[in-house]
Amino acid sequence: MFCKHIILFLHTFERSLKIMEKQSDLIKNSSTNQLTDLFGMNHEKVLICQDKDSGLKAIIAIHSTTCGPALGGTRMWNYNNDMEALKDVLRLSRGMSYKNAISGLNLGGGKAVIIGDSKTQKSNSLFKAFGNFIESLNGDYITSEDVGISPDDMIHVAKQTKHVTGLPGKKGDPSPITAYGVYMGMKASAKIQYGSDSLKGKKIAVQGVGHVGEYLVEYLYKEGADITLTDINDSLLSKVSSKFNCKVVKPDLIYDVDMDIYAPCALGATVNDNTISRMNCSIIAGAANNQLENEHVHGTVLMNKGILYAPDFLINAGGVMNCYAELHDFSNEKVMQMAENIYATTTEIINHSKNNNIPTFLAANQKAEERLNKDLSKLNA
Ligand code: NAD
Repeated sequence: MFCKHIILFLHTFERSLKIMEKQSDLIKNSSTNQLTDLFGMNHEKVLICQDKDSGLKAIIAIHSTTCGPALGGTRMWNYNNDMEALKDVLRLSRGMSYKNAISGLNLGGGKAVIIGDSKTQKSNSLFKAFGNFIESLNGDYITSEDVGISPDDMIHVAKQTKHVTGLPGKKGDPSPITAYGVYMGMKASAKIQYGSDSLKGKKIAVQGVGHVGEYLVEYLYKEGADITLTDINDSLLSKVSSKFNCKVVKPDLIYDVDMDIYAPCALGATVNDNTISRMNCSIIAGAANNQLENEHVHGTVLMNKGILYAPDFLINAGGVMNCYAELHDFSNEKVMQMAENIYATTTEIINHSKNNNIPTFLAANQKAEERLNKDLSKLNA
């Protein structure tokens, strides 16, 4: 087997120097997820993985191991070009550092992308080759599923490395836990915005009724919310709407419905210049990653409009909590308790944002950076 194994950025400095650099970087790059250049987010390590025999082309990015081994899923996607894949993995891995830090998990942030069509280009040998690359990182990176990857794919990765979560027969599908965390974040937001966390009678528009969306709708239905759904998958939409007695709109009309709460559970960047002016909601709380097209611009616009945005990486952390629970053999009850705690963290972040008159995304980023800096100081001591 011919394996091309290139480490782009290595730890070339003494640990203390690295820590100082990372501290200054955290301050310098405070609260931005913009990719300005390859080194702008100060990743610890990026591994280009190529295996000619299986056709594997992948990139593993370790943003930070400050709070523990870097954990984040593997995404398989047909990127237009390699640079697009690199940008995606750098951005996503940094996001995982923040998500894991704010969730209080002893995990750093990492992510992997496999370049290719998940419908036609998967093979057992491809995943085994990928497993070899993960193993070469000696536990600094732990993977799980993301878009385009199933628990069955992970079985082949796990033949080559033990640094895998989300395997069949273990904690399984993280979506129910993610949905519960989103529900907790939504209720905490409602408490602050309306004075009560009851969602009874609240008009809630859910975009996407896939794995997470359907479980979320079930919680909302049980609480007596007035739910409107949309999805590009008509059969799924019809199944979920009839099961939970919901109204349905076409995908492009979801932003215009009469709603108190918008719950994006499909794709990122749906909160943007085109949609904000159409939304008459007072809360945005959903599962999708990177909901704000530009967090600085749109986070500020939402604050100025009085729309309370529950930061996505905070309230959708149930999935990573599930992986953490699998690693540490926690019970299902314990992981539900961890997800329930998202209510308290969301309250804390919103209060921090209000007290400092800053957008909630910034308050969340600051809280994550506080944890990262604290752990760096401990390492440095
Ligand atoms: P999924 O693929 O099961 O569901 C997404 C649904 O959105 C699908 O039913 C799809 O048809 C629909 N959709 C796609 N484009 C749409 C559009 N333009 N308008 C309306 N509907 C559209 O994914 P999921 O696992 O439910 O995850 C949902 C979101 O939450 C994703 O952004 C994911 O990254 C994020 N997330 C998921 C988890 C998890 O545990 N699954 C954890 C954290 C974050």
